[in-house]
Amino acid sequence: MPAANHYDVIIIGTGAGGGTLAYRLAPSGKRILLLERGDYVPREKDNWSTRAVNLEAKYNTKESWRDKDAKPLHPHTNYYVGGNTKFYGAALFRLRKEDFGELRHHGGFSPAWPISYDELEPYYNRAEELYQVHGQRGADPTEPPASKPYPFPAVSHEPRIQQLSDDLKALDLKPFHVPLGIMLDEKNPRTSRCIRCNTCDGHPCLIYAKADAQVVCVDPALQHSNVTLLTGAYVERLETSPTGREISKVVLKRNGSREEYQGNVVVVSCGAINSAALLLRSASDKHPKGLANSSDVVGRFYMGHTNGVVLALSKCPNPTVFQKTLAVNDFYFGDKDFNFPMGHISFVGKLDGVTLSAGAPAIAPGWTLDLMGKHSLDFWLTSEDLPDPANRVTLNRDGEIVLSYTPNNLEAYNRLVKKLEQVMQQQTKCSAHGHDCHVGLFARNLFLGQRIPLAGVAHQNGTIRFGRDPKTSALDPDCKAHDVDNLYVVDGSFFPSSGAVNPALTIMANALRVGERILERLR
Ligand SMILES: Cc1cc2nc3c(=O)[nH]c(=O)nc-3n(C[C@H](O)[C@H](O)[C@H](O)COP(=O)(O)OP(=O)(O)OC[C@H]3O[C@@H](n4cnc5c(N)ncnc54)[C@H](O)[C@@H]3O)c2cc1C
Ligand code: SF4
Repeated sequence: MPAANHYDVIIIGTGAGGGTLAYRLAPSGKRILLLERGDYVPREKDNWSTRAVNLEAKYNTKESWRDKDAKPLHPHTNYYVGGNTKFYGAALFRLRKEDFGELRHHGGFSPAWPISYDELEPYYNRAEELYQVHGQRGADPTEPPASKPYPFPAVSHEPRIQQLSDDLKALDLKPFHVPLGIMLDEKNPRTSRCIRCNTCDGHPCLIYAKADAQVVCVDPALQHSNVTLLTGAYVERLETSPTGREISKVVLKRNGSREEYQGNVVVVSCGAINSAALLLRSASDKHPKGLANSSDVVGRFYMGHTNGVVLALSKCPNPTVFQKTLAVNDFYFGDKDFNFPMGHISFVGKLDGVTLSAGAPAIAPGWTLDLMGKHSLDFWLTSEDLPDPANRVTLNRDGEIVLSYTPNNLEAYNRLVKKLEQVMQQQTKCSAHGHDCHVGLFARNLFLGQRIPLAGVAHQNGTIRFGRDPKTSALDPDCKAHDVDNLYVVDGSFFPSSGAVNPALTIMANALRVGERILERLR
């Protein structure tokens, strides 16, 4: 009989990586322990309140980190069962095939991955099935080859977005439908689980119709009697056997007390920043620079994308309810004016006056925030930031997380904004206002300034990179630590480069891949 606190596999963190892995391992009958520092997101009307979510940041962690100048940093991140997928916009993109190779950017090089796109492709299929992705193959000009169709049809555009799509097509661009993990059945609206509401991106789904890691992975995994979840379980430290080659204890705090657990396999999946912090906190005689860190890469190469929200204001109102249906990848790898990758254009959920007041937007003369919210098209821009060893997670003397980051490759982002402006200035379709309709573009972000600031860590990745060489990577190509025989990492930490599409589907697909390796090992 195994001891009560001994498990075959311990998974720390229940988000896109940890939750998906738990789902994959659950049917094996192995004893699996899921450790999650947060609780379930409470189901309450505030889930769908833009005031509670965007203005009061009700569900954000209240934790304070530091930036490189030791100033307090209040991260926009969430600690709950399901991790940040509870709040995500469920835009579930595959990385491009080229993102797995080395790519030359204006600001430097984006390094190759130790696995190819083709190796991950079957797992992308499975992740798309699991997360019920609605999309249309063949429309995205940079789409990688896929061996299966999307499991569900694309989510339709509402009239204003359809009009934009038609306009963009008239300019010889190839707008397409964002692949989305929402449980929408447009043919049967009466029975559709998703009701296509205006509080999806950034909000938890009150009626569990978003394919998040809690709803589609953790809850089903817990139907298996061999799977146990402990919430409110903050993992403080991992300890090793005397050789340093094996995790011997997972040490956590729960209800104010210290508890210890053992696992034959231990998987860290706390999100790229917290996973790096956990390994650094677990330094010991055998691992003086931090656990599994003989390479000194743990915490380094932090990436988070260069993201920004750009409002396009028109005289015509934009009555769209669910706006995040259209994307443009024509500039992803560059164009004739700029022969370097620029990135990805899509949408955030429809912004309203309340949400706009959470930042400090450039107010258009004569417009109130409410009016801006009623007339804006709210674009979301993503450009790749490049891995830099100086962009890193460390711990200060008080054990606080320090996130040091200097943006790079900004020309790509600036060019992408310019492209969007040029494209929007060519909009001619409005029958009521003619050319005057699209009066201007106002760049803002949900917080301050032009771009999403450092606290916007939604796309965090890269801090425990995988690779073939133990001198330059912490994980091997199966995401097992080079230095420790029973330690794996399956959150966004493993990315050696980040591409310029949203990261979650790649994290999910990789967790399914690593899950297979772990199952082979346990057999
Ligand atoms: C508002 C918002 C919108 C987004 N929209 C999209 C989108 O449309 N498409 C997309 O692809 N991505 C999107 N993302 C990003 C996406 O949510 C993340 O890429 C993804 O959730 C990361 O998965 P992960 O497993 O690395 O970490 P997470 O999902 O963050 O999971 C980490 C888990 O570990 C737990 N944890 C942390 N530390 C500890 C500890 N010490 N002990 C125990 N547990 C711990 C956390 O509570 C959390 O549950 C969005 C994110 C946000 C915030
Ligand atoms: S009902 Fe649909 S659109 Fe609304 S939050 Fe849920 S999944 Fe998103």
